[in-house]
Amino acid sequence: MDFTLSEEQLMIQQAARDFAQTELLPGVIERDDAQKFPEEQIKKLGELGFLGMMVDPKYGGSGLDTLSYAIAMEELSKVDASSSVVVSVNNSLVCWGLETFASEEQKQKFLTKLTTGEMIGAFCLSEPEAGSDATSQKTTAIDKGDHYLLNGTKNWITNGSTAGVYLVIAQTDVEKGHKGINALIVEKGTPGFEIGPKENKLGIRGSDTHSLMFNDVKVPKENRIGEDGFGFKFAMKTLSGGRIGIAAQALGIAAGAYELALKYSKERKSFGTEICNHQAIAFKLADMHTEIEAARLLVYKAALDKDNGNNYDLSSAMAKLFASKVAMDTTVEAVQIHGGNGFVKDYHVERLMRDAKITQIYEGTSEIQKIVISRSIIKQ
Ligand SMILES: Cc1cc2nc3c(=O)[nH]c(=O)nc-3n(C[C@H](O)[C@H](O)[C@H](O)COP(=O)(O)OP(=O)(O)OC[C@H]3O[C@@H](n4cnc5c(N)ncnc54)[C@H](O)[C@@H]3O)c2cc1C
Repeated sequence: MDFTLSEEQLMIQQAARDFAQTELLPGVIERDDAQKFPEEQIKKLGELGFLGMMVDPKYGGSGLDTLSYAIAMEELSKVDASSSVVVSVNNSLVCWGLETFASEEQKQKFLTKLTTGEMIGAFCLSEPEAGSDATSQKTTAIDKGDHYLLNGTKNWITNGSTAGVYLVIAQTDVEKGHKGINALIVEKGTPGFEIGPKENKLGIRGSDTHSLMFNDVKVPKENRIGEDGFGFKFAMKTLSGGRIGIAAQALGIAAGAYELALKYSKERKSFGTEICNHQAIAFKLADMHTEIEAARLLVYKAALDKDNGNNYDLSSAMAKLFASKVAMDTTVEAVQIHGGNGFVKDYHVERLMRDAKITQIYEGTSEIQKIVISRSIIKQ
């Protein structure tokens, strides 16, 4: 397996790195503090083609592979995971889901705007009583002939108030279980669709997380994605690729914290020498470097599996499980290496530590990744 990056991939890496330094870093602490959505930054990311990276240029996308997307996610997440989660949801859940499964009319109407950042999208699966157990959908989409009548509540929706279009998973036929679930495209402003207050979060505080309420919302039949009953499969297939984006986000958070810790350890002195010369600190750096490299290889492997047309359910679950643990462990140690400075906002590592935690929760918790992995290896 060849992990050498192509010229194009190296250019994308550099472009994302430059963008993170010049556009994301300024104000990142203030946005986190104020829970301010990175509106300007997301607009620019759209203009530069980072919001529809894997989509065919005929729909306004950048026509790149999954590996390029993962590389960009790593670089953006080193600096600002609140912005990179928007990139991840829009690319892997919304754009990929629509390009792969939507009708040509739906692609022309919605995808062309989502790739350019004219609007962003949201993916709405979780509910108050359906998180890990996603089959327990209580939101209903009753077939009324030419439209569905949508009722229910979705929880924790990223881009909840900032999205223009929402992919909503709902139960049409309870008797058919998960085969009676549909995925519907719901436009913002549709009568009966309400957005709850913004969640006050531990991490990724700049991102925009809300509950959504649907009260007798009429969704035209032409807004259903795929055949009747395809919704659950749509959600699972889409999330499998989404996990590569979140694994890359976790990798970036870890790598960002490591880079800051390494630099700090070469500057800060104690007992007459730079702290990196104390073996206790040097060994922490060695562990971080090794674990980050291992996480990167798992992320690249999952991305290459997807690009090569292999099944990537197992590799994406392994990449997310491992990279998110590395993100958590690395950021905790980065705070430790910074001593008291690690505990205040100016040095960034406390924010990266708070941001790391979400990568073990969303798009399937670490426990759910272990279920996916164990089922897959037992079946083999
Ligand atoms: C900031 C944020 C953004 C999010 N964005 C989105 C989004 O855009 N769209 C969306 O649809 N959802 C989103 N989510 C929801 C997220 O995917 C869910 O929170 C997650 O899937 C877990 O579901 P839950 O919170 O209901 O936890 P639960 O399912 O109640 O789990 C609670 C605990 O029990 C464990 N557990 C549950 N079942 C099992 C089992 N069978 N075996 C072992 N352990 C188990 C879990 O691992 C966890 O530790 C977001 C969440 C957050 C916090």
